[in-house]
Amino acid sequence: MKLAAPARSLRIAVLSREDNHSTRRLVTEGEERGHTIEVIDTTRCYMAINTLAPEVHYDGTRLPRYDAVIPRIGPSITAYGTAVLRQFESLGTHCVNGSAGITASRDKLHAHQLLAARGIGMPQTAFAASPKDTDNLIGLVGSGPLVVKLLESTQGKGVVLAETRKAAQSVIDAFRGLRANFLVQSFVKEAAGEDIRCLVVDGKVVAAMKRSASGDDFRSNLHRGGTAKPVRITREERDTALRAARVFNLGLAGVDLLRAHDGPKVLEVNSSPGLEGIELATGKNIAALLYDAIERKVRPAPVRKRRTA
Ligand code: ADP
Ligand code: MG
Repeated sequence: MKLAAPARSLRIAVLSREDNHSTRRLVTEGEERGHTIEVIDTTRCYMAINTLAPEVHYDGTRLPRYDAVIPRIGPSITAYGTAVLRQFESLGTHCVNGSAGITASRDKLHAHQLLAARGIGMPQTAFAASPKDTDNLIGLVGSGPLVVKLLESTQGKGVVLAETRKAAQSVIDAFRGLRANFLVQSFVKEAAGEDIRCLVVDGKVVAAMKRSASGDDFRSNLHRGGTAKPVRITREERDTALRAARVFNLGLAGVDLLRAHDGPKVLEVNSSPGLEGIELATGKNIAALLYDAIERKVRPAPVRKRRTA
């Protein structure tokens, strides 16, 4: 006979600097389930690094021991945010996403290297540091239109389509002039301004939406005016999304892929995926599914007769 785990209320920290929709959703949903949810401004955490006991301080007091931490670390504070998170990790707190996975997934170059090493499909991607190599770099990616991306781009802000070799050279020169780090990618034309966001929670794709660019833009980011609707994904797409999330060991991930002629191509793995767009588009309660996963991980396992006898 299987006994249900006792419903214990959990104390959970949401590491977030912003009072945005996703953070509020996490608070409301968690409290509805009887948990105590504390929103901790990541940049206000401070720490003594010593060998005795890792701890995290906040506004004059030491933070309590949380049952779980949900990191929502924005791209502008990745280094500090993941340092705070490492502190929680050393305390043995369950962190929905780990510091290493957040750091690696956020750096597009590192992320693509890790994905490639696992044989996960992606557009032809190349990178070079010296202006002397621009021509050869373009050659590596092929003769067609190219996409040039700032390594730290989010919301489509640093992603440019260069239709010709000449255009690609100018964009690359401009980025180099600004000392920006970027990568070059073959343009997956058949994706036609659409991408698929798969939301992965604890090793399952729990929701998927298709985002379509507005007007003649090729970028489907919702922040660029794209629209979203629910989509049925293929088994291959599901497997690809799961494997991509697993590369970074993320308990909550938004995996973006393009539908190319020769299968799904991963563009990026987002460790702080927004909840609003996907919940609206699919009608799924993602926050609840996340808490289901946290409760499974953190609550004591049901006591089995066999072990207590
Ligand atoms: P960001 O992190 O800024 O969102 P992405 O790599 O996700 O950068 O690119 C933004 C959007 O541009 C994608 O959602 C997709 O619609 C489009 N896009 C990006 N790379 C390609 C590509 N290689 N081929 C076709 N479309 C692309
Ligand atoms: Mg994106």
